[in-house]
Amino acid sequence: MTALSDFFTEQKRLFTATHPKTVALAEQAKSVWRGGVPMHWMHDWASPVPLYAERAKDATLWDVDGHAYDDFCLGDTPSMFGHGREELQRAIAAQAGQGVGFMLPTRSSLEVGRLLKDRFGLPVWQCATTASDANRAVIRWARAITQRQKILFIDGAYHGMVDDAFVVLKDGQIVHKTGLIGQVADLTQHSVVVPFNDLTALESVLRTGEIAAVMLEPVMTNCGMILPIEGYHERLRALCDETGTLLVYDETHTLSSGFGGYVSEHGLRADVLTVGKAIAGGVPAAVWGVSAEVAARMDAAQAAIGPGSSGIGTTLSGNALAIAGMKAMLSEVMTPDAYAYMQASAETLVAKLRAVIAQHQVPWSVVHVGARAELVFADPAPQTAAEMRHALDPHLLEALHLYLINRGVLIAPFHNMMLISPKTPPEAIDRLVAAVEGFITEYTR
Ligand code: PMP
Repeated sequence: MTALSDFFTEQKRLFTATHPKTVALAEQAKSVWRGGVPMHWMHDWASPVPLYAERAKDATLWDVDGHAYDDFCLGDTPSMFGHGREELQRAIAAQAGQGVGFMLPTRSSLEVGRLLKDRFGLPVWQCATTASDANRAVIRWARAITQRQKILFIDGAYHGMVDDAFVVLKDGQIVHKTGLIGQVADLTQHSVVVPFNDLTALESVLRTGEIAAVMLEPVMTNCGMILPIEGYHERLRALCDETGTLLVYDETHTLSSGFGGYVSEHGLRADVLTVGKAIAGGVPAAVWGVSAEVAARMDAAQAAIGPGSSGIGTTLSGNALAIAGMKAMLSEVMTPDAYAYMQASAETLVAKLRAVIAQHQVPWSVVHVGARAELVFADPAPQTAAEMRHALDPHLLEALHLYLINRGVLIAPFHNMMLISPKTPPEAIDRLVAAVEGFITEYTR
């Protein structure tokens, strides 16, 4: 096995030698952007400096040095249906020429509401600008209509820039996430955390009758991918019904599971559903839908306080541009055919990765839901975030990602997520699999 330090030295040298324009831009950017990047996550890639994107089309991204990358990150989901989609371009350009921000509904907004209702099955919708915003609004409403203060989250979850959700389990205790800077209130007073797939812990917390809502992803996607155990969602639903707790599914990432997202594909029932990122193809937009019962309770709470709920929402939410983006995506891009292709191609990727793992006998596995696959450095794949944290060796992760970047392949930073778009060609899948195999033979042997 190649020594870690030698491996990184060689891969970083290779990157720097082949990316002179990128390196020069990164150097200049230090004078105007904090840390040299407009948003700090852009630092979280394994390359010595972030790539500078020149443009992207379908499932290919080109950097300023002229290298092409097979993009399996797809912006960490917003571009899940491919970059530079003409349907979106047409809709956005047309709306931009007719005004984008009126603080008024447009004809298209009615159509978008109907499309959301038909696709996701919930009858009443609201807009937000990001999935983070949508989740924050939902948490506030859940507390308002249940008159309960606590929200239950799953250990290892990420729901965006949502204060309440910045809690984790550490040695069995609920604590603030490290990195939660400037926090004044003690979140552990009103946020409860249980491990994923732990129905005993879930039941004991819900039976306290203190929980306003459970907010979770149907499949965990942000600490590696963790699938629910058999019967998990059914039991969760039953416990929420028995205890008067709202069940909120965050489908922001699992929208890739199928035409109506994971919840609809698997016949689950949500009281509230939030979706962002890809819903307008990466144009900032998010939505949240509620059941008829929740809508009625919201109306009653609203009647009690009078008109307006200032502070729940932002000026740009539901603006004409976001609506135009959602209309194009929902009606022209996110089609059953697109999903069928994504699903079939993801299955091909999974089968090929598993074959490579078996052939080289590395102790890894591949987890998969819909168009999303995850290479996990453990076999069997973990069922909780605690197990996943143990498996996610940060050095191995960085080494793999850097190796892939140097071979023209992008996967999502932080873990090993690979997302298939309707535009991802079979050859790109083969190149990804070959690069993973190259890493195994060059690095782990
Ligand atoms: N929910 C989930 C499940 C997410 O993964 C994320 C972001 N990765 C968000 C919400 C927040 O999305 P945004 O950054 O667009 O607000």
